[in-house]
Amino acid sequence: MKQFECGALVPGCEWHTRSNEAAEVVHRAVEHMRLVHGETLIRENLIYNIKLRIVDTADPQPAWQAA
Ligand SMILES: [Zn+2]
Repeated sequence: MKQFECGALVPGCEWHTRSNEAAEVVHRAVEHMRLVHGETLIRENLIYNIKLRIVDTADPQPAWQAA
């Protein structure tokens, strides 16, 4: 799983997203920037900064392993 935490880019923002696809994470993050942070001009630099902050995260533990 890939995860992006907006707080890594916009201090104080609690929003985060995760997906199996890095491209999907970038897409959602750009939408979030546009809608919530008023970034109407999506510059190449913003996408670069989002990509830098995407981290790999473990898949949720399957229920059969929890017991
Ligand atoms: Zn945010």
